[in-house]
Amino acid sequence: MRFGGCPLRCHYCDTPRSWSRRSHFDWHGSGGMEQRANPLNPGALSAALYEMAATHGVPAARTMVALTGGEPLLQHAFLHAWLPTWEGPVMLETAGIYADRLQALLPEIDALSLDWKMNADLDQGADLNAAAECIEVAESARRDRALDYWCKLVVSAATPARAVLDACSQIAALAPGCRVLLQPVTPLASAVAGGPTNESAAAPRGAALAAGPALQPPCAQTLLAYLAAAQDLDLDLRVVPQVHPLLGAR
Ligand code: SF4
Repeated sequence: MRFGGCPLRCHYCDTPRSWSRRSHFDWHGSGGMEQRANPLNPGALSAALYEMAATHGVPAARTMVALTGGEPLLQHAFLHAWLPTWEGPVMLETAGIYADRLQALLPEIDALSLDWKMNADLDQGADLNAAAECIEVAESARRDRALDYWCKLVVSAATPARAVLDACSQIAALAPGCRVLLQPVTPLASAVAGGPTNESAAAPRGAALAAGPALQPPCAQTLLAYLAAAQDLDLDLRVVPQVHPLLGAR
């Protein structure tokens, strides 16, 4: 479930059409994609998810729903209303910029994917204090109730090696033993330089992605060098591809 709106413009963003809220959302049912009207209230959202689960023949109460974006925590008030009413497990994917909102919602979350943005990822630099606060919130929940969470670093061939290793060191200091996923960027063209910023400017995904130069993933040797350089850190460091482009998920 992709939430509209995001205050960031990561250089590697592959979903620029999620940056703004839209009057309609894409519904991917058994009959293909159709447009449905936004916004949904909590009851309508649950009904839509039950319908989606039935479409795919899976039990809604035992199928994990992934909240992603955009940045889902921009719509934290809605999530406060909806999450307690939803019976199934929920995974939250967040950019790690709203520690207070994360803390408030975390009791309703079963799994957490926390991005760690590096300064090189954003023109204005990353808010490393906010990222550290989010990890502290997640660590607290892991200790209290064994929250399943991990940190995610998207890396490209242009990412400075020092930045990757510094990020790993910072995460290890905050959360010893933390699972950290190094995700080689999928070589799609970035839309940050020319992507849509409002609905009227919204372009089809392919057109938006054609706006900027393609970011390339690091080569295998570079990824191995990261793993080797970080082996003395107390981290569960793994290289994991971005699966959603492989699956064609939007
Ligand atoms: S990668 Fe995520 S956090 Fe970054 S601009 Fe895209 S939607 Fe926003």
